[in-house]
Amino acid sequence: MLLKVENLQAEIEDKQILKGLSIEVKPGEVHAIMGPNGAGKSTLASVLAGREDYEVTAGSVEFNGEDLLDMDPEERARKGLFLAFQYPVEIPGVSNKLFMQTAVNAVREEQGLPALDMFDFDEYAKEKIELLDMRADLLDRSVNVGFSGGEKKRNDIFQMALLEPKLCIMDETDSGLDIDALRLVANGVNSLKTPERSFIIVTHYQRLLDYIKPDYVHVLYNGRIVKSGGFELVHELEEHGYDDIIQQHQEA
Ligand code: ADP
Ligand code: MG
Ligand code: MG
Repeated sequence: MLLKVENLQAEIEDKQILKGLSIEVKPGEVHAIMGPNGAGKSTLASVLAGREDYEVTAGSVEFNGEDLLDMDPEERARKGLFLAFQYPVEIPGVSNKLFMQTAVNAVREEQGLPALDMFDFDEYAKEKIELLDMRADLLDRSVNVGFSGGEKKRNDIFQMALLEPKLCIMDETDSGLDIDALRLVANGVNSLKTPERSFIIVTHYQRLLDYIKPDYVHVLYNGRIVKSGGFELVHELEEHGYDDIIQQHQEA
């Protein structure tokens, strides 16, 4: 098992948001997490990322057999956990290239591999750009400064390719992703899928899942997973919305 979340409970500002959430992810699996606004989806992503404003009050999270909750965010990243919104801050004056070279070398150090110097990193980055069929222009800009929504997405995918994580968690919030950005994210995920690498894709967008075709789909409601299924669940939700599932859950 790559990720094992058991009975996870978490609060923010003394308000309980996650109320006993369990999910297991094996290597190579793609899981989608859907659910109505306010269900706790972003909270789950943030808790897994180790963001400090969230307090875990019960439950456990194992990543590759280790206690994830015991690690600081940087350690989680070095061990192969990637959060697509992990580096949202703008850093004027620091090139994206230097920033990513440092991040990649931190992961390599953890794995006992030698650091990449500027020239090696350029080569490595070039390979990834070709793999993703992207332009290299973002590398020479300051980190996230003045990036458009589409450029941020492109950079997320590029960072993911560079860091070669074991588990990628993407939180696609409901704010303004156009069809091109959805395709970009989907193509990125599809080209970075390997038999070992897993994904958790948090999204409101059924359309994104049509492109990605997750192996498992979970509905999160009121801090818990209330229904899990295969890809067919996406279309069930498309037809009936969340109301049926929530009602079944409340009756049970
Ligand atoms: P989702 O991503 O599913 O829309 P969130 O995880 O963002 O849901 O939010 C879950 C609940 O936590 C919501 O009720 C939201 O109002 C509350 N919440 C989120 N962030 C904070 C915060 N910083 N302070 C207080 N409550 C918050
Ligand atoms: Mg929300
Ligand atoms: Mg959210």
